[in-house]
Amino acid sequence: SKVRIYTLAKDLGVENQRMLEILDGLGVSYKSVSSTIEEETVDLIKQILAEESTEAATETVAAEAAPAVSAPEAPAKAGSDDVAPVASSEAPAASATAEIPHRAPVVTIMGHVDHGKTSLLDYIRKTKVAAKEAGGITQHVGAFEAQTSKGRIVFIDTPGHEAFTTIRARGANVADIAIIVIAADDSLMPQTREAIAHAQAAKVPMIIAINKVDLPQADPDRVKTDLTQLNLVPEEYGGDLVVVPVSAKTGEGVEELLEYISLTAELEDLRADPKAAFGGVIIEGRVDRQQGVLATVMVQEGTLHVGDFLVVGENYGKIKAMNDSNGARIKEAGPSTPVQILGFSDVPNSGEKVASAKNEHAAREVVASRQSDRRDVENARVQRRKTLEEMMGPLSEDRTVNLIVRADSQGSVEAIQGILARKETDAVKLNVMLAGIGAPTEGDVLLASTAEAHILCFSVTAPAGVKKIADNKGIDLKSFRIIYEMIDEVDRLIKGNLEPVF
Ligand code: GDP
Repeated sequence: SKVRIYTLAKDLGVENQRMLEILDGLGVSYKSVSSTIEEETVDLIKQILAEESTEAATETVAAEAAPAVSAPEAPAKAGSDDVAPVASSEAPAASATAEIPHRAPVVTIMGHVDHGKTSLLDYIRKTKVAAKEAGGITQHVGAFEAQTSKGRIVFIDTPGHEAFTTIRARGANVADIAIIVIAADDSLMPQTREAIAHAQAAKVPMIIAINKVDLPQADPDRVKTDLTQLNLVPEEYGGDLVVVPVSAKTGEGVEELLEYISLTAELEDLRADPKAAFGGVIIEGRVDRQQGVLATVMVQEGTLHVGDFLVVGENYGKIKAMNDSNGARIKEAGPSTPVQILGFSDVPNSGEKVASAKNEHAAREVVASRQSDRRDVENARVQRRKTLEEMMGPLSEDRTVNLIVRADSQGSVEAIQGILARKETDAVKLNVMLAGIGAPTEGDVLLASTAEAHILCFSVTAPAGVKKIADNKGIDLKSFRIIYEMIDEVDRLIKGNLEPVF
């Protein structure tokens, strides 16, 4: 009978990644680790692994215990996720990257309002975060660490794609995996599509959590069919999209969701060196009346220590004290750890990159050089804009024009998409990242700025605030009342006769 790839990997005690390599080697096609394979293939895989372990046996006696079911589980489970898995006796040969330890995945939860993002985060926090010491106060610091049977998972706990987008808009990528929550009684809604567009633009793997399956009116199949219409095909329909039915109310499916997160993380092969130079991102910053400026930093590379000097943008500070996301005082923090830091004098913005400096003098120098760099860049930008305006020639061939379309009704949206599809040529692809009903939002502008997209509005206008942000960021945002004018604009974009967005 057929066997799922990840089940087999687990039974044989090898990493999923290794399993996929073997399948590639055998020329067996699969969609993902949850695809099933034939019994003959299973036999072949067992043979290959057995051969490998005999080869390894010359070096390690232990290897003789080889591919017996579940034998090697112990080393895999014993290590924490922060420690490189002890080179399993079955591993063919230590690969080059094996020296850089694995790190825990950082997950963000996005989706339409009221679909259950907060509830899902609360459920996970309630059941998977180690109990605080008596008297400890649960504080929202923007992220928390869940301990699961498959290891640590870090959740960004500002639900919604605003956090995701502001962080990305500053050039940082903090999330490794995006969970898109879709309520089973409501299916795909405008913000669901937005969330999907954001995850796709960031090239972050997505897992769909169909929430509220406890409700009598829940219709998970409808959600799956609707997803298919966005070219997102669930695994059970032959695609590679992982879809997990859950209930944030009863907890049903949450364990499975966490397993899928770990599985996806394993495939992404996330690693970071705790000994490397420190690098991190601000998750959020705020002022506390008693303590002063508090900033949550996600450690991405290297290790932070109390006393380190940090540089954020054109500011620096010294770490006076550091808390983990549970509120416990800590002295150091390695990769994929969110920490709350006391020691900045200004509130840093979320998404800003953080680096460390050897001492105060070095920190000051970094700040000074950044200030002068910024002035140079500003001058250069003015210069470049001028020259481009002089040339205004065709910029490049064979390019993709990213578009965000906003219109007053579903009918208009579909009509515009139809027109755009016909306009596409071999040389110029029109990529509609997001097509939605209603006025463009700040989120659209942020998406446009990270993806260098043009925003085209039909019969809707941008609110003044949104228009202003677009202007500040140099985003091309135009509104049209007459469809032919919009088509003319698209033609202009296709001809590449427009100044590019920078
Ligand atoms: P958010 O806006 O996406 O963060 O959604 P919330 O977490 O605030 O949930 C919106 C509403 O749906 C609240 O009233 C929740 O109690 C309810 N809700 C969330 N998850 C579930 C679920 O799994 N089952 C049921 N029955 N209700 C849920």
